[in-house]
Parts: sequence; structure tokens; C-alpha cells
Amino acid sequence: TPNLPRRPILELPDELISQIAAGEVVERPASVVRELVDNALDAGATQITLRLLAGGVRLISVEDNGSGILRAELPTALKRHATSKIASLGDLESVGTMGFRGEALAAICSIAEVSLLTRVDTDEEPHGWLLDGRSGELQPTARAPGTTVEVRELFFATPARRKFLKTDATELAHCVEAMRRHALARPDVGFAIWHEGKLSAQWRAVPGGGMTALRQRLSDVLGEDFIAQAVAVEWPSPDAEPLEYEGQRLRIWGFAGVPDAARSRNDWQFAYVNGRYVRDKTITHAARSAYEDVLHGHRQPVYALFISLDPARVDVNVHPTKIEVRFRDGREVHQGVRRAVESALAAPRAGSAQDGST
Ligand code: ADP
Ligand code: MG
Repeated sequence: TPNLPRRPILELPDELISQIAAGEVVERPASVVRELVDNALDAGATQITLRLLAGGVRLISVEDNGSGILRAELPTALKRHATSKIASLGDLESVGTMGFRGEALAAICSIAEVSLLTRVDTDEEPHGWLLDGRSGELQPTARAPGTTVEVRELFFATPARRKFLKTDATELAHCVEAMRRHALARPDVGFAIWHEGKLSAQWRAVPGGGMTALRQRLSDVLGEDFIAQAVAVEWPSPDAEPLEYEGQRLRIWGFAGVPDAARSRNDWQFAYVNGRYVRDKTITHAARSAYEDVLHGHRQPVYALFISLDPARVDVNVHPTKIEVRFRDGREVHQGVRRAVESALAAPRAGSAQDGST
């Protein structure tokens, strides 16, 4: 082995630590969109507006009508490992918010120009505040309660990353996809996407809730065709015997496309665990296996499946982007998803050609 010269062990400067962390969290504009929308949802927003310039490379702005941030806490919000969402290991084990790592804003600040405009939704402060991420300068401003985070010139400080970006159209498509994933999970929240000053998508908040609201949101986001060719998944079935540990039990619901609706790509497979969009092999495999007798070749089923289980039975702190989870009992989840989808596909559909009534 070559004799490498001995170099001293040094602690990295804060800025560089954040830039390294940003490499894990922010791959492209869509990653920023996901983090900012997570924050808006955690703040209780009911309306979220995304504005983009040049596919998000020039500007990503996320405006919400959530709780806002107190002036005194504003500088802390941009710091590394600063969060209002957990305070202890116990909190981490039962985390119910999208965020908890306290990393996103700091990471984004280290690789872009960030400004934050916010006003709390209480009488505590009579106006809003504008915080410049770079200088830390604070200015009073007018605004309705809520928060707008503006991110400009993404990767200006890390040109190597910038080179990996695709065309504006491709980056825009990824941003829209990030919004879709959020929108499917929250029919109760209104979403709008503007690109280059033009409205490119709008999904209005759906009143009510449950399967009816989900059906409407799926139709708005994925199109009427998706829902026309899908069956409702509800497991255990609504008329199953309630169990003692009802609140803790594994529940699976959503919509799954009939075999005919399958696609050549797996781009319409949405899976959520406790409200969080995930990419998980156990779920993908279980869902695919439910189609094993009815779907042949490489065709990909379409579905939007929501899984809820006791937060103590799933670890969300596996990956910085939280897109991966680890189940304590993967077999239970696999069996549940498979049975849920299988029984939905087997049930006769009212008014469909399959039940022989037409
Ligand atoms: P995390 O979401 O993991 O807590 P972030 O870096 O994303 O970390 O955000 C840091 C903190 O800033 C949050 O914990 C929250 O208190 C505050 N914050 C960020 N975005 C918003 C927002 N849109 N509305 C209200 N508070 C926000
Ligand atoms: Mg966050």
C-alpha cells in the first residue's frame, strides 16, 4: 500500500457540513419542493402555492397559510439541527410530522439564496418579517399569516451539482411529481403550481374526507381515467370485527387499478406510510403479487395505497430524504397489502362489465 502523507484531523466548518448534508437531501429542484411542502403541511397549511422559474433552478417559491414562525425563532429556523418537531428520542420514535431532522432549511441555505417571509397566525405579532438567509437581516413587512420560502439560484455554490441538472422541462416535471405525491396524501389541502408566471396545475381542497375525498383528489391529479378503472381498497374491510387495539392495527386503503389499467411504466404506483410517500420494496412486491394471476409480462399495476400502523412499528429515520422506511414486521405489511389489493380486485364492481351486469 502506498504510504499516504499524514494529514491532520480537522473539524469541518459549519458551512461545509451543511453543504455535505445538502448533497444527501437536495438532488434537484424537486427535492427542495418536497422539503418546503413538507414544512408547509407540518405548519397546518390548507393552501400551498408553488411558483417556479426555469424548472425551479432560478426560483422555487412555496407559499403557505400555516402557523408562521415567531420573529424570535426565525434565525434558529435556518440553523442546522434546529426543529420544533421533536425534542427527545421518545418523540423521534413516535414522530407524526413530515419533518423532524431540522436539516432541510439549513441545507438549502448552504447551496442557494434563501429568503423567508412569515407571519404568525396569532395576535402575538402585528405584522410579518422578511429574513434574508445570507445576511441574516430581518425586516418588518406586511403579509397574511403563513410563510413563503423563496429559494433562488440553486447550486450556485456547488457548480458540480448544477451540471447534473436536466432541462427546465424535465426539472419542472419532477417538481410537479413531488407536488402530486403530496396532493394525493392530502385531499383536504389545496395546491397550485405556477411556472414562468403561468398556472400549470391546480388541485382544489376537497371538503369532507375518507374515500370520497380521496377519489375526487385522485381524479383531479391523475385524471378521471385512473379512477374509472380503479377499485376501492379497504382493509380490514369496513364491516370487519373491530379489535381491541383498533387504533394500533395495520390499516390499508386507497384505490388500485384493474388489470386492464396497467401501464408499461411503474410511474403510477403511489404508496404512503402514515401519510408519508415512500418507495418501499416490501410494498411494491406485495402489491405486484396481488396481480400475479391477472397481470402478465412486464405490465405495471397502478395504485395509490395508504398504510397506517403504529408509528412505533415503523422507523422513518432510515434515509435523509425519508423516502425509505423500515418496518418492524415486514411480513405483516406484505401480507396486509397483498390481501388488501387481492380482495379489492376480486370483489365485483358495481356497474362494471366484469360483474356481468352489462
Ligand atoms: P424540520 O422540518 O425537520 O423541523 P426544517 O429545516 O425543514 O426542519 O425546518 C426547521 C424549522 O423551521 C421547523 O421545525 C419549523 O419550526 C420551521 N419552519 C420551516 N418551514 C416552516 C413553514 N412553512 N411554516 C412554519 N414553520 C416552518
Ligand atoms: Mg422540514
